[in-house]
Amino acid sequence: MDWLTNLVWHNGKPFGVEWRVWGEVVGWLGNAAFFSRFFVQWYATEKLKRVVVPTAFWWLSLVGSLLLLCYAVFCDKNKVIICAYALPWIPYIRNLVIHRRHSAAHLTCPGCGVLCPPKSNFCFSCGTRLVAATETTSC
Ligand SMILES: [Zn+2]
Repeated sequence: MDWLTNLVWHNGKPFGVEWRVWGEVVGWLGNAAFFSRFFVQWYATEKLKRVVVPTAFWWLSLVGSLLLLCYAVFCDKNKVIICAYALPWIPYIRNLVIHRRHSAAHLTCPGCGVLCPPKSNFCFSCGTRLVAATETTSC
């Protein structure tokens, strides 16, 4: 196993690359994730011709801000940048939870199988009466 250790850990550095360079890689990956979310949101909005914020936008926000927080804490050590990325993960995770709950609350039409918005009384596609999930489960 010494050969593996020597391959990964070379001259006291992972793959012989300076820690500073690894930090830069993390920072640039964070920038790429954070910046790409605008294109994801723009594409989704253009596709539906109304303003929408897809789940991918919140995932990219979360990943990008956490990578940039790591870069700021371990490499840049700039308090302004650290503060900028210290807390935004809270609303990102909250929005992902709300997205998931909203998706789970959709009702499947027993007539045609189409997914209908939460709390719908009738299927928007075929008109079949929908039974809310809370009415069908006993627990
Ligand atoms: Zn239906």
